[in-house]
Amino acid sequence: MTQFKFDEITAHLKQSGFIFQGSEIYGGLANTWDFGPLGINLKNNIKNLWWKEFIQKDPNNVGMQSAILMNPLVWKASGHLDTFSDPLMDCRNCKTRHRADKLIEEFDPSINAGAMDTKALQEYISEHKISCPNCGSHNFTDIRYFNLMFKTFQGVTEDSSNTIYLRPETAQGMFVNFKNIQRAYRKKIPFGIGQIGKAFRNEITPGNMIFRTREFEQMELQFFCKPGTDLEWYEIYKEKCMNFMLNLGIKQENLRFRDHDPDELSHYSVATVDIEYKFPWGWDEIWGIADRTDFDLTAHQTHSKVSMEILDPETNEKYIPYVIEPSVGVERLMLAVMCEAYDVEQLENDSRTVMHFKANVASTKATILPLSKKLGDQAFSIYTDLLEEFECDYDESGSIGKRYRRADAVGTPYCITVDFDTESDQSVTVRHRDTMQQERVKIEDIHSFIKSYL
Ligand code: ATP
Repeated sequence: MTQFKFDEITAHLKQSGFIFQGSEIYGGLANTWDFGPLGINLKNNIKNLWWKEFIQKDPNNVGMQSAILMNPLVWKASGHLDTFSDPLMDCRNCKTRHRADKLIEEFDPSINAGAMDTKALQEYISEHKISCPNCGSHNFTDIRYFNLMFKTFQGVTEDSSNTIYLRPETAQGMFVNFKNIQRAYRKKIPFGIGQIGKAFRNEITPGNMIFRTREFEQMELQFFCKPGTDLEWYEIYKEKCMNFMLNLGIKQENLRFRDHDPDELSHYSVATVDIEYKFPWGWDEIWGIADRTDFDLTAHQTHSKVSMEILDPETNEKYIPYVIEPSVGVERLMLAVMCEAYDVEQLENDSRTVMHFKANVASTKATILPLSKKLGDQAFSIYTDLLEEFECDYDESGSIGKRYRRADAVGTPYCITVDFDTESDQSVTVRHRDTMQQERVKIEDIHSFIKSYL
């Protein structure tokens, strides 16, 4: 497979209307991105597929939506107020700010700097004479810790008693509702609660377009199980997440599991694995699957004084369940799907840019093309009929060849051409994006034709 440069892919995504720079007409706001019509369709398709797979189709699991703004005590209990921070150093020469752990990992990718304490980070940087990536100076300040949570104020008084936070993850919304849901839905262990929603992190080093941003969406599941069965469920969810990515059209050779080393594990986790994708800049995390033990529920029980124990009806035992958490960022997953799909193909006398999206994620399933503007009415009525069920597009300008190329460039799997025979044979020509083969299909069969590929 050709490995394309990331710049080339991002230029295509912007130019073809998947993603735009946020607030562009005002010069943009750094690292914010807006999704155009194609981008939001792709994003919604991925979210709907996740919801179907992890919530709707799974008899153990239920969905919910919790508020972004939560009582600050939630963040005290979860540990985010005290420990959700990055080690920062400022370059005294050029005044740029850097993450000490990232400077070390860029210097030597085999080092796991996330597991080093402040002293070790500082010593490593001076011993190896790591320089500022911006100006080359070695004149750094000492390391300080910077909390990644965005702060704001509730109500009109801007003082510390009114400080609240934008949630840095959706998970805590499910932990604090564990008892509500278990009671109201009479759920028995094992069961899961999932949600899709926005999260915010004041990242120091955002970048790679939508890979690392300060505002993003997460799809998270908290799966509650009996202690002792947790590692079994951990394995089940590892496989389920990997299969989900394969079903989005990402090739196995571009995916791998990376187990966290014991010194890299969060203090509460007994096992964590990342599913990594081979992005144009190298392997990077998309999906984290962690065995979080009973850490979160115990912490909320301690701080809220509300019991998080359940009574096992079969054994009559009381315990706090363990939790398996598969957590993935929607935009990261979407970026992987887009990088995987992007291709520039050399044809006999020409080349074409094509996004090889699988039909289930493709932003537009079909484009309807009248061969001549005179056939517009008939083509438009096929188009509006298909819109009842699928995301479709209508394109009547330019030669058919140009219109095919436009559809290829945004990954539309089928071009449906209405021609001068359509009226008499009640059929249209369907052209397949990847093979460029064409076939004649009855108008009345088009719905089922498209459906058969989804
Ligand atoms: P990283 O090491 O890349 O900062 P993380 O390990 O802190 O990620 P988690 O806290 O485990 O990430 O979050 C779960 C998932 O949420 C990640 O696997 C990723 O897909 C997504 N995610 C986390 N931070 C961001 C971000 N700043 N921008 C986009 N997606 C993110």
